[in-house]
Amino acid sequence: MDSWANHSRRFEQNRFVYPVWSRRAEGLSIGINLNPDKACNFDCIYCQVDRTTSSEIPFVEWERLLGELDEMLELVASGEIWAHPRFATIDPQLRRVNDLAFSGDGEPTTYRNFDEIVSACAACKRRRGLDTVKMVLITNASMFHRAVVLRGLVLLDQNQGEIWAKLDAGTEEYFQRIDRTSIPFGKILANIEAAARVRPLVIQSLFMRVENLPPSTGELGAFCDRLNEITAAGGRIARVQVYTIARRPAESWVTPLSHAEVDAITDRVRDRTGLEVRPYYGYDDVGSLDAGGERVDR
Ligand code: SF4
Repeated sequence: MDSWANHSRRFEQNRFVYPVWSRRAEGLSIGINLNPDKACNFDCIYCQVDRTTSSEIPFVEWERLLGELDEMLELVASGEIWAHPRFATIDPQLRRVNDLAFSGDGEPTTYRNFDEIVSACAACKRRRGLDTVKMVLITNASMFHRAVVLRGLVLLDQNQGEIWAKLDAGTEEYFQRIDRTSIPFGKILANIEAAARVRPLVIQSLFMRVENLPPSTGELGAFCDRLNEITAAGGRIARVQVYTIARRPAESWVTPLSHAEVDAITDRVRDRTGLEVRPYYGYDDVGSLDAGGERVDR
């Protein structure tokens, strides 16, 4: 117990490494935050990062991050993590650690030493013998063209990596309305296509009501067209995650879709693309996960 109490204290004081129960990962996910300053090159209307307050942590402290990760992986490897009060109520049959996830308070691939941090985290995972634990990159795909990111993606491929690329729209107009960035939609599509030609990607797509209106039929049709264009060009898509708001968003006029609406979009995308599509629901779906909290699914 003494040992646990010590770990627990340090774990709660972590700055960069945080364990969460993730619906989309279907297990425990160890988050690694490469954007403690909360800076992002998108300004999504549904973002769940609280930017009403400034961060007290202006940059990644390399040694501290790796120290926190190593300690967390020790808890994972020993199974001690499941004794923590946040996870102790999770059904023993569901207890599994799915991944280390580069996901935090901004876009992880904007971190300037992205390849080096991926390499160091992979080495940490290997040292702990956690070969079945994946490494997930949760990304808006805006930086895939940079050499440092390309090298990081290859390192992920070599270390049980999975890339979850955000695609929330089918048209430039809707993309700008939802994701609010100076980066053109065409650049994001080109990046996704290029990365998907090298390895299969997971597409993560958040749909919602904007001023009480769900995405139009035309927009969803265009979204399916973009997916079909990626696969027609030789890109591989492992699956599409259709999800909606599950935490308080940046803008008050953004609200979740109903379960039925999420299901209808899921069916439509599956029918139009032939891809594997999985639904994840909104507010009233997450109550059972309170024990572990859930990743801020940006
Ligand atoms: S949802 Fe992700 S990409 Fe969008 S603003 Fe938030 S952190 Fe950036």
